[in-house]
Amino acid sequence: MENREQSVNHKSQPSTAPSGQPARIRRLADNVIDQIAAGEVVERPASVLKELIENSIDAGAKRIDVEVRSGGLQSILVRDDGCGISRPDIALALARHATSKLSDFDSLESIQTLGFRGEALPSIASVSRLTLLTKTNQESHGWRVSSDGGSSISEPEPAQSGVGTEIEVQDLFFNVPARRKFLRSTSTEFSHVRKLIRQMALSRMGTELSLNHNGRRVDRYPAANSESTLKERLRSAFDAHFADNALRVEWEEDGIRASGWIGPPDYTRSQPDQQFLYVNGRGIRDRSLAHAIKQAYLDVLFDTKRFPIFALYLDIDPVLADVNVHPAKAEVRFKNPRDMYGFTIRAISGTLAGDRPGTRKMAKSAFDTVDLNRKVSFPESHQGTMALPLDSDWPKSNKRLSTTSSSKSQTATSTKPSLAPPLGFALAQLGGAYVLAENADGLIIVDMHAAHERLNYERLKQDYESSALKVQTLIVPFVIKASAEEVDVAIANQQILSKLGFDVSLASDNSLSIRSVPRILKGCDIEKLLRDVITDLIEHGNSKRVEHIRNELLATMACHSAIRANDQLSLPEMDALLRQMEVTGLSGYCSHGRPTWNQITMKELDRLFYRGQ
Ligand code: ADP
Ligand code: MG
Repeated sequence: MENREQSVNHKSQPSTAPSGQPARIRRLADNVIDQIAAGEVVERPASVLKELIENSIDAGAKRIDVEVRSGGLQSILVRDDGCGISRPDIALALARHATSKLSDFDSLESIQTLGFRGEALPSIASVSRLTLLTKTNQESHGWRVSSDGGSSISEPEPAQSGVGTEIEVQDLFFNVPARRKFLRSTSTEFSHVRKLIRQMALSRMGTELSLNHNGRRVDRYPAANSESTLKERLRSAFDAHFADNALRVEWEEDGIRASGWIGPPDYTRSQPDQQFLYVNGRGIRDRSLAHAIKQAYLDVLFDTKRFPIFALYLDIDPVLADVNVHPAKAEVRFKNPRDMYGFTIRAISGTLAGDRPGTRKMAKSAFDTVDLNRKVSFPESHQGTMALPLDSDWPKSNKRLSTTSSSKSQTATSTKPSLAPPLGFALAQLGGAYVLAENADGLIIVDMHAAHERLNYERLKQDYESSALKVQTLIVPFVIKASAEEVDVAIANQQILSKLGFDVSLASDNSLSIRSVPRILKGCDIEKLLRDVITDLIEHGNSKRVEHIRNELLATMACHSAIRANDQLSLPEMDALLRQMEVTGLSGYCSHGRPTWNQITMKELDRLFYRGQ
């Protein structure tokens, strides 16, 4: 192998000769130029694969088979049933800056293909042993060419082949030891390969994709063209829980569209390793948008150390996204990055907020509105908001039924399951902590404190934002003892406390007088709560940062005002809680992202009792 090493390995020349004379300037050999260019595009087997699969997609392939050996270090093969390359163009495909996808710079603005730079194949060829077999539907047989380190490309020879292209890349970096040194173990390289295959599988749902490793089938993604096959693909790319519980994103504003799936807040990862972002069908990395998504989850996922799971597809006018900023095309530059940031936050927050009891099934059956080859079409009703069909219907039927909220009317609903609201009707309270209810599918269990806390939090937030926080003026001011520091902080933050509904003033050096409290807090331990709020303020320092911790303050208030364990609720009170959950965004999660309710279906209950087996 060593004797095949190419020119790039010659000892480098110092830029000055020993005589002090400058070294002569020479043009680099084409092959060296290719190898240098390869440094930007080809980092490891997975990046070779990315370029080859993108070419197959651009060629209109409906099926792409990938075979790698030793994590791709030994060989990488991509076979597609695309349009193939005609005989006269074969040499050009391997030549630098030759492409069939772009003719002038202006058309880059509206580029529809993944490739356009015309440098992947020559770059890959320059650092490997490459064989290309291809046939178009115009020819009776195919052609094969091979190249060794890109220096000598063979004359095409006739070969047997179906329509399409097969490219095999062996011994990556065999002629560039410096690069080869950066390759990792077989298993590490293979995990990059596998992730790349997932990224590709999620980018073109309608294209069949398979991966073999060392002759063994590892992944197979059949073409997804129905609700069930689409779900199957999500299951293969993520897992069954995600496929069953992901929230469907469908959001559109002013010509920007977001679609795809995001994980429920109670199903996150310790690493950001299951996050797939696409812009106009191109898998990209974007720190700002990743941050926007995380930001949107923050309101429900207080644990900032966890990462949401998503496959998110943004579609925008190509003129607004420059794809030519990165040789590997792994990034795009948005014309209006701030707009994209804001839009992404709204799309994700809105989707999360739309995840209320009873909506998830709707979201799931929205599977069939997804166009399978990326160009997602949106029903008009989704413009700028989620269509949640339960809104108008449920409260109506609730009212009718809950006025006679006796156990009799509840039994009646069991015989008419279609009339039961998503969270059903309350049956009882369990262990002072849970509300049990019956809905059409079986048993509903609600963590009443967690649910109530979320409801109060959402309400406080809304009221705070619209400056409509209702205040209760106390007839007799309430005086609490406080440390000098607490008094200082409270007085320094009088304004923000007032906006939160507390009228706090100085009573003495070590006491505060409270004249009003937020009405939502009626009946809770005001002294303890105010102390907690002041502690929050102390912890976060000066009042400038208050806006940042505003939600935290509201969350503290929500927690205090929520029903406690062992609070006894009447059936109508429980029903009221359930009805409120149904119409409040994010009510399915407590402030730590844990679920506030769960369903046990009749089927699951039957299974517990071996019924019908
Ligand atoms: P680019 O994709 O930027 O055009 P590449 O170097 O990746 O550059 O490919 C060069 C050209 O080779 C492409 O423009 C295309 O015409 C042709 N080509 C490469 N791979 C395939 C394939 N799998 N099927 C058909 N044509 C291909
Ligand atoms: Mg390409």
